[in-house]
Amino acid sequence: MEVILAEHAGFCFGVRRAVDTVYEQIEKKKEDGRSIYTFGPIIHNEEVVRDLQERGVKVISSLADAEAISEAERGTVIIRSHGVERRVCESLKDLGFEVVDATCPFVKRIHTTVEKESEAGKSIVIVGNAGHPEVEGIRGWSCRSVYIIESVEEAEEFACKEGEKLCIVSQTTFNYKKFQDVVEILNKKGYNGSVVNTVCNATEVRQAEARELAARVDVMIVIGGNHSSNTRKLYEICRQECRMTYYIQTLGDLHLQLPETVRLVGITAGASTPNNIIEEVQNYVRINF
Ligand code: SF4
Repeated sequence: MEVILAEHAGFCFGVRRAVDTVYEQIEKKKEDGRSIYTFGPIIHNEEVVRDLQERGVKVISSLADAEAISEAERGTVIIRSHGVERRVCESLKDLGFEVVDATCPFVKRIHTTVEKESEAGKSIVIVGNAGHPEVEGIRGWSCRSVYIIESVEEAEEFACKEGEKLCIVSQTTFNYKKFQDVVEILNKKGYNGSVVNTVCNATEVRQAEARELAARVDVMIVIGGNHSSNTRKLYEICRQECRMTYYIQTLGDLHLQLPETVRLVGITAGASTPNNIIEEVQNYVRINF
């Protein structure tokens, strides 16, 4: 039996980089003994967060948490791939922390655009989900008004001041088609604005690849957390193409009894599934079937 692992299974580039940064800092800490914190959980995966905790990494969720840490304990804070507002970085430095910025470069590009365009006099429109940490972070790089538009309906109702110049960006994980629809509505309203397409295609690439793989194989295994919406979506896509699609969190959930006719097994994984879990499943299927 042949096992094919999807090339883009698991972490995207930005999340992998952020997680690797934490492990690098753990190694460094062995030399200088400084405390390590992440600003928010580095990734939505309980096993990874637990492993980091066991290695002494603590999670802080706010500036108030950071202030509550004694001066002697104020070591290194790692900013996760979503990024944060400018004032958060500045305040952490003022408090005496070393800030290691693992903001995904694609998100950082939005911060730079927002900073530059708002300084040039434009108000910022973020097409994305209000309250999402990435959107809150982006908002915090503007020195002018920021509008957040979540849907086509909100775009229809949107109004800004007469003569106000706009710069439109999007949350990286926003659906590209919806972003285009929102931009089209704003254009029709005659707003004076520039548009920067900042949608990241990591999710789309993972989904397209999963669909293509599921259509080729006899059995498809999708690995990811129970509450991970992007893994559920991957499962649904694969299930449409391959009747024998299994959704598992870890190897422990895999109780496969495959008919002898099965020749090809495909594996993919959601965005927060670590490599070691993917490898375990892959090796198990290779050895046991
Ligand atoms: Fe991953 Fe793309 Fe988000 Fe970066 S912008 S963290 S690559 S999904």
